[in-house]
Amino acid sequence: MVAFALAAVLLNTIDARGFIASAAVGFAIMYGGGFSWFVIVAVFFTLGVVFTLYKYGYKRRLGAAQGKGGARNWPHILANGGFASVAAIWNLTSPGIVPGAVFLGAISTSAADTVATELGLLSHSRPRLITHPSRAVPAGTSGGVTALGFVGAAFASFVIGIMALAMEVLPNPYLILPLCMVGGIFGAVFDSLAGAAIQRKGYCIICLKPTEALKHCGEKTMATQGKWYVENNVVNVISTIAGAAASLVMLAALAPIF
Ligand SMILES: [Zn+2]
Repeated sequence: MVAFALAAVLLNTIDARGFIASAAVGFAIMYGGGFSWFVIVAVFFTLGVVFTLYKYGYKRRLGAAQGKGGARNWPHILANGGFASVAAIWNLTSPGIVPGAVFLGAISTSAADTVATELGLLSHSRPRLITHPSRAVPAGTSGGVTALGFVGAAFASFVIGIMALAMEVLPNPYLILPLCMVGGIFGAVFDSLAGAAIQRKGYCIICLKPTEALKHCGEKTMATQGKWYVENNVVNVISTIAGAAASLVMLAALAPIF
């Protein structure tokens, strides 16, 4: 686990605080969920790195690339791995299929959202606002969706599902793929809805560029839309909870059948 996070630092995909956050998430997952859960988190991490670096130069020219070669900071790691860690700690106190389903829904959402975002940036057709499909928005705008992004969300959920099946994350194999697909796709769509409806958008007071970040050019940005405290990581946390809830609903629907 530590070796894995250290490799990520050496590959420049996380910074120093990101390393500590990853180690904490990794430890909670490993301790509460065991090796099979840890492999699923590693698969999510790998999907994120591969799709972030895919055509990175093009995304950079677009002005929509993740900074520092896709290096993730600690709030980003906790936003994506935090709720999955809660499921792992829950699994420690009362192991079973319910925390397992919560974990799969949360991690599928993180994977689906990450791949949808990175793949969607490469779409030839302009993103449309999920709440107003007639309105085209610049690539990288939260709440903007593309068909390619949706395919990415489905693909990422499928990969997580297949790996969870191979690693026997749940005792009942028939449940795994539907739980991951429904949780991941619902969570990613929820992420776009929340991104459009409540996420802060604004501009930099120095360079006047539109931005969703809290800080730009070293200064606090001016918020013009959404709730000022709802930035991307907050939306990500809420979405992992929504994705986990969708997986639980799916579990309740399917458990009597299988
Ligand atoms: Zn600026």
